[in-house]
Amino acid sequence: MAYSYEAPVSQTLFDRASHVTPGGVNSPVRAFRAVGGTPRFIVSGKGPYLTDADGREYVDLVCSWGPMILGHAHPEVTAAVQEAVARGTSFGTPGEGEVALAEEIVARIEPVEQVRLVSSGTEATMSAIRLARGFTGRAKVVKFAGCYHGHVDALLAAAGSGVATFGLPDTPGVTGAQAGDTIVLPYNDLEAVRAAFAAQPGEIACVITEASPGNMGVVPPLDGFNAGLKEICAADGALYISDEVMTGFRTSKAGWYGIDGVQPDLMTFGKVMGGGFPAAAFGGRADVMARLAPAGPVYQAGTLSGNPVATAAGLAQLRLLDDAAYAKVDAVSAELRSLVGEAFTKEGVAHTVSAASNMFSVFFTDEPVHDYEDAKKQEAFRFTAFFHSMLKQGVYLPPSAFESWFVSTAHDAQALERIAAALPAAARAASEAVA
Ligand code: PLP
Repeated sequence: MAYSYEAPVSQTLFDRASHVTPGGVNSPVRAFRAVGGTPRFIVSGKGPYLTDADGREYVDLVCSWGPMILGHAHPEVTAAVQEAVARGTSFGTPGEGEVALAEEIVARIEPVEQVRLVSSGTEATMSAIRLARGFTGRAKVVKFAGCYHGHVDALLAAAGSGVATFGLPDTPGVTGAQAGDTIVLPYNDLEAVRAAFAAQPGEIACVITEASPGNMGVVPPLDGFNAGLKEICAADGALYISDEVMTGFRTSKAGWYGIDGVQPDLMTFGKVMGGGFPAAAFGGRADVMARLAPAGPVYQAGTLSGNPVATAAGLAQLRLLDDAAYAKVDAVSAELRSLVGEAFTKEGVAHTVSAASNMFSVFFTDEPVHDYEDAKKQEAFRFTAFFHSMLKQGVYLPPSAFESWFVSTAHDAQALERIAAALPAAARAASEAVA
């Protein structure tokens, strides 16, 4: 049995977990493989704080990878969940809560005329792609290297080194046939997209892109990139799918669409809209959504889709997310970005704080980062030293240099002070780190 002086109870739990669960976790990045050390087993969260099984408190800059935009255990969300639970947890019938959540999504996001609720972001993107293929009668899908759309077989293909052509399976278990219709292109490169369409006119069902990527670190689209995608798709009769699982209801009231205004044909959502519960969605043009069963022939279903407890949580959270809430999250993010930048500058660490609205991450390079290849050139070993110093000082960062940091309305002055106090030593650790 391993022993960790820093987190003995978490280590004991991790040892137990590793016997019964592959790698000890139910989602790989939680295992701290990129940074090493003992994953913290969290027993509770309140506002901007997490408490682990060893009784240590952390300022949380992961926010469950995005969903907890109001902080943990928000009283109004908790009350809505408790009320819903008391009425019963699943009926397998339609219910008013799912109508209300769908109405809230449609009201906020103009290109979404109709929406279907599902239980995870993965299901949302998988279903959106099936629908795009069913609607267009075409097979091929364009995705971008470094964009993550969940663990959908066809979307786990990523470009290897060399020219981006047909995707090769990135993981055992995804067959060549499943990945063979996926075309992986470099992000932010409209010429590559034009070339792919020119090489196979009328064969591409859709382009799927993160509205503003946060899964290779935060790499926002260059001016005109999303609009260019839409234009290329429209000219060829392909659908433009904007994956807003991460950005949706986080980067603004109407997500990234609220920022760039480019009208997708289909969109996908998750994270914030579930209020910490498994709720996600895909939606868009009414004529496309009309192809979905039972209205149309493209099959899609789910035992727990539109679950009453999840929809109650999501609806309660969305109803609290007004202009003032987004202004607060944006302000917290701006202050934190400047604190982080100052700390690295003071220690002479080459870095770029890359932001898309209130989402941001740090790249350990001062070169511009516009795609996955750029992102991979950073000195990621510096992040490991930085991460562990912050963790030791009670700040919980995403355990990878290639993930977005997330803040919430609950990150108050006290939480920011705690982070500010930890930054100088952590920036020094990054500066002294060796590859
Ligand atoms: N799409 C994007 C942009 C994501 O960031 C994620 C998850 O991080 C997904 C899809 C998959 O969502 P889920 O983990 O809920 O399946």
